[in-house]
Amino acid sequence: MSDDFLQESVRYLKGVGERRAEVWDDQFGVRTVRDLLHFYPRRYLDRSTITPVGQLRESSDPVTVVGTVRAKDIVPGKRSKRFELILEGERGAKMKCTWFQGIWFIPKVFEVGERVAFHGKVQKYGRWFSMTHPDYDKLEGESALLDTGRIVALYPGSEAMDKVGLNSRSIRRVVYNLFKEHGLKLEEPLPDWMTDRFELMEGRVALRAIHFPKSQSELSRARTRLKFEELFYIQLLLADMRQSRSEIAGPMFDEPGDYTRQFVREVLPFELTGAQKRALKDVIADTQTGTQMNRLVQGDVGSGKTVVAVAAMMHALDSGYQSAFMAPTEILAEQHYTNLRKYLNPLGIEPRLLIGSQSKSEREEALRAVRSADAPVAVGTHALIQEEVQFDRLGLAIVDEQHRFGVAQRATIFDKGDRPHMLLMTATPIPRSLAMTLYGDLDVSIMDEMPAGRKPVKTVLRAEKRRGEVYAFVQDQLEKGQQAYVVYPLVEESEKVDLKDAVSGYEKLQKQFSNHTVGLVHGQMKSDEKDATMRRFKNGEIDLLVSTTVIEVGVDVANATLMIIEHAERFGLSQLHQLRGRVGRSDIQSYCILMAGYKRSAEAKERLQAMVDTNDGFEISERDLQIRGAGDFFGTRQSGLPDLKIADITEDEDLIEEAREGAQELVERDPELDAPEHSRIRDRYDAEYRPRQDSFARVG
Ligand code: ADP
Ligand code: MG
Repeated sequence: MSDDFLQESVRYLKGVGERRAEVWDDQFGVRTVRDLLHFYPRRYLDRSTITPVGQLRESSDPVTVVGTVRAKDIVPGKRSKRFELILEGERGAKMKCTWFQGIWFIPKVFEVGERVAFHGKVQKYGRWFSMTHPDYDKLEGESALLDTGRIVALYPGSEAMDKVGLNSRSIRRVVYNLFKEHGLKLEEPLPDWMTDRFELMEGRVALRAIHFPKSQSELSRARTRLKFEELFYIQLLLADMRQSRSEIAGPMFDEPGDYTRQFVREVLPFELTGAQKRALKDVIADTQTGTQMNRLVQGDVGSGKTVVAVAAMMHALDSGYQSAFMAPTEILAEQHYTNLRKYLNPLGIEPRLLIGSQSKSEREEALRAVRSADAPVAVGTHALIQEEVQFDRLGLAIVDEQHRFGVAQRATIFDKGDRPHMLLMTATPIPRSLAMTLYGDLDVSIMDEMPAGRKPVKTVLRAEKRRGEVYAFVQDQLEKGQQAYVVYPLVEESEKVDLKDAVSGYEKLQKQFSNHTVGLVHGQMKSDEKDATMRRFKNGEIDLLVSTTVIEVGVDVANATLMIIEHAERFGLSQLHQLRGRVGRSDIQSYCILMAGYKRSAEAKERLQAMVDTNDGFEISERDLQIRGAGDFFGTRQSGLPDLKIADITEDEDLIEEAREGAQELVERDPELDAPEHSRIRDRYDAEYRPRQDSFARVG
């Protein structure tokens, strides 16, 4: 096939050679001609994207300037040296660029008289507009291109790339020669029906335009096309996985029977919310198809996912199957166990608990019961998935707070029994675009409704100097008979410093609120101590609970209506939201007070503001995604998805949707990708994507 040259090494291309090829591979993974074509420029320069130095303003968005280096100097400062460079733009307008780091090499990078483009945020110091640690591109010979109105592509670079002469200019030349030689041979990988349906620019045109755009509008169409293609292969991976899943047999449940009905109608002291009903209906439908269920229930903290889990377990029991309910921590497993006993004992059911810290005899009794079908319901931590745990007839496995488990752990539960139905639950609502990608191989039920009568938690931000006021408020709440949490950060369970914080906080608070009972839980306590303290808090014997983040997940004490988070600036946004979810669990007004030091990074400020602004988990997660960027957002990397080179999960929601539609249609039309018009997709899919299925597989 004529596309074979795409697999060839870039080393043999004109202008590359052995040394450059090595560095290029090492720095950016560019090995083959295909890699090179997809080595996208990181920025473009043309007259419309350059801000004249004379028109600079302070701005939080970065801007690009072009000019000539007029002076450079290392300046001694109060604490340390800095490097300053004066850039002159058109008509003598000048600005400053400043570096505090890299002073040992940055001064050598620039020569006076050189043309350079700088990219960064602009601040004003005294009379100078200034960029700190800006991105830079040297424009030897490029200015002429700009002067003729061309759009100039700037590529990712590094010191090592510079050393072997791989800069934007030489890269452009290599790509240019490549197109001159092979351009017409590039075949269209996508079938006509797809490019037509989504009105996509031809692939070959898009690749040329991404490197050598003729206009901004051509560039924008090219980007759309290449983003689509990138997203399409990921969605194809997911569609393929859904397709193969849909062929896995699962236990065949009956219609819900007496257990389910009694639980919902007689045991529960409240009506199910609409969202709970919908999620349950999804589960009931999934489990009666004969194929295995793989459903994720996504619901904000406090939306009542546990009840859905219990109802699903009753449904399994109605069909004669056992259920396993796995939680990430012992506190949480025990809390579920307590709830399950409360809910199920009236129905004559005794749930079994399996956790690491229980006595040998307790454990053995539980194991026996689970093995012999005496136990229709087992709840526990990952102790549930140990070798020796054998179920008699496991039909349903539920994983609570599923994002806290590793892929391998989720996979193990799947091997218990005859491929049980899988119900995954998460309180981390994620933006739809990310859900379509991260969870694209699962069916998703969204619980976007809180039980009736809940009042949104009032959240405020307080600085240290108002601590007196805050304590007065705590006193007031405690007098009213409410309970409160005070949470300290604990980055690593082993970090003694943080622990000291919580312990000394605890001692201070004991003195401060000597007329109330103050308790302490942290990750280094034995789990029975922890449990005893939690239980006393739940029973109302402790009024004020000081803790590290061990209470983050799922703990449910409705009478606790006040949460104080110390050093709130140190927490991630979704963690703050999870913590806040511990209060606001009744019809009494709840409060969350974020105590934050003055040293707040810009990101920390945004996080804290988001908390003050909204209680809505989905909005919080959108903001979190924007603040952190997709790569970082709870480990897309660890999910096994390829890194995105051009598409952006935060921005390209519509394209993700289209790519998903295209991929789904493709697997429906041609599941084996046998048709000649799909052969190029198949080749690339088999080579680069199919192998990822294993690492990506979330539950099996
Ligand atoms: P989460 O979704 O965070 O796991 P839980 O399952 O812990 O939430 O439920 C939070 C609280 O809401 C619990 O005290 C539970 O009893 C209560 N709850 C659940 N469903 C309802 C409902 N439909 N009406 C009223 N309260 C409910
Ligand atoms: Mg929960």
